[in-house]
Amino acid sequence: MPDIIALLPDHVANQIAAGEVIQRPASVVKELLENAIDAKAKNIQLIIKDAGKTIIQVIDDGVGMSSTDVRMAFERHATSKIKKANDLFSLSTKGFRGEALASIAAIAHVETHTRRSEDEMATCLKIEGSKVTHQDVSVAPKGTSIAVKNLFYNVTARRNFLKSNNVELRHIIDEFHRVALAHPDISFVFLQNGTELFSLPKAKLRTRIVNIFGGKTNEKLVPVKEETSVALIEGFVVKPEYARRNRGQQFFFVNQRFIKSPFLHHCITNAFEGLIPKGYHPGYFIYLQVDPKTIDINIHPTKTEIKFQEEQNLYALLRSAVKHGLGMFQVSPTLDFNRDASMDIPHGFKDKSPVLPTIEVDPNFNPFKNENPNSNQSNSKSWESLYSSLHTDPQSLGSETTPEQELLNIPESPKVFQLFSKFIVSSMRSHLLIINQNRAHQRVLYESFLKTISSQKKSTQKLLLPIPLVLEKEQIIVFQEAQEELEAMGFEMTLNKNKLTIVGTPKFCSEKDVQKIIEGVLAFETETTEADSFSVGDRLAKSMCQLLAIKTGTTLNVTEQKHLVDDLFGCKETMLSPFNRQIFITLEKREIEKRMN
Ligand code: ADP
Ligand code: MG
Repeated sequence: MPDIIALLPDHVANQIAAGEVIQRPASVVKELLENAIDAKAKNIQLIIKDAGKTIIQVIDDGVGMSSTDVRMAFERHATSKIKKANDLFSLSTKGFRGEALASIAAIAHVETHTRRSEDEMATCLKIEGSKVTHQDVSVAPKGTSIAVKNLFYNVTARRNFLKSNNVELRHIIDEFHRVALAHPDISFVFLQNGTELFSLPKAKLRTRIVNIFGGKTNEKLVPVKEETSVALIEGFVVKPEYARRNRGQQFFFVNQRFIKSPFLHHCITNAFEGLIPKGYHPGYFIYLQVDPKTIDINIHPTKTEIKFQEEQNLYALLRSAVKHGLGMFQVSPTLDFNRDASMDIPHGFKDKSPVLPTIEVDPNFNPFKNENPNSNQSNSKSWESLYSSLHTDPQSLGSETTPEQELLNIPESPKVFQLFSKFIVSSMRSHLLIINQNRAHQRVLYESFLKTISSQKKSTQKLLLPIPLVLEKEQIIVFQEAQEELEAMGFEMTLNKNKLTIVGTPKFCSEKDVQKIIEGVLAFETETTEADSFSVGDRLAKSMCQLLAIKTGTTLNVTEQKHLVDDLFGCKETMLSPFNRQIFITLEKREIEKRMN
């Protein structure tokens, strides 16, 4: 038998490696921007078309490459940044694996122009799928321009896997934010389809943050600073009263590298404790300078995690620095510590008169089709049998029937009462039922919103006065993505540049809550880039039901309680909330009796 093991050709190996480094256009953007920074550029331009699917170009005025180096740069494990393994522990550059350019060139058409200041002529190099198709001298300014065209042209699966332009653009903007925030001393321009999304001159950190996030950001920031032997901590936190419903503005940088650290995040959340209501998130821009020897940057190319040697010390330091910052600006006394958003009377319920539940039969509903992989179908089926047998058992705990009802055989709905302003207690046959009111209502609203969106049976009420809203860049993108579904729900609005004017709302949405709802929906959407496997309509229904469902702490009268229970059991799924939380628990009569011994 002949030998069967062979080394993979380079271009195949590169293509495989590329899968790890380059997942989407945003990964290319990150690598190219970081290379420009490593090349000591002072001015960087990012130009993209169609969310990077057609072209991603980065132009820098950095050190450039010689004609030999530029050829080398596209080889795997070709890097000018480290020479030996030990160099890994004193890294001052972003890149060091020497893999990015080789990976990008394996799965796209790449055109590079580069010139060092000492060279008269520039080099132009074209590579397609790891093959050099053209190399020549050219005329170009000092620095490097790399254009990546037709990303994933030879990896159909990847290309098909890409999300809508809006989603991909948001990923790119996220990466851009991270790089631009880490380097306020570099000027950035970002163009998409010929329009300028960002133009950020070299500036102090505070100005950079304001230039990126715009509007009133300046007045929202509180400085944080602490200098110790362990670390230099600098940056800003967002005043608690401006805390947002999404985690958008949370940034940690260690030695000018964006990182994700659940550990440090916990620390900041802890420092904000009691200052912001439940469901809101603190905003922060925290910059740590530490000795590179005391950290371990995960070598994985796409991971942004990090390990600190002096973790406990750092935690205490950062926490006190943030608390100090918050205290110094005396933001604390202006807050009502006892206010809990979850105690607010939910909008939409308050003004709503009880409605009779309607029964709708969905002919397409198949109970054996598992729509939600996490839902417990066997449980929900046993639940259904429990519920349907209710009417045939007059002995059932708590459901007394009047003689008339018995004669006419009219089933009476079970008794209900509210417990701890949080649960609705009811009984069914030989079971006690404890229902979480918030989750139950989320489920009811979620299904009704989904139905409205898909049925196109919207009902709109015109507002007396249009409500204007000014949107941030990211919100605009998110809005455009969800606009169709919002309209299907009954919202009527127009977007002009960054001004959104709301002229009509669905019936269930009261005028004074419109702003909160739209902002909440946009916040939810910016939050869920990772969960974009769900449809826009589904996410919209989720965010709306979260915002509008009866909150814990709301007192409900008996009619409202009954309607909620009836509505819940009219749902397709009764066991789990749209966020996969258990809606109710049951306690069997037998169990109760056993414990009565
Ligand atoms: P790494 O950044 O990990 O070294 P890359 O594949 O990203 O690997 O880049 C390979 C090499 O190409 C870099 O080490 C650098 O020497 C050179 N290079 C890449 N981009 C630029 C640029 N914009 N300007 C100058 N040199 C560059
Ligand atoms: Mg690199």
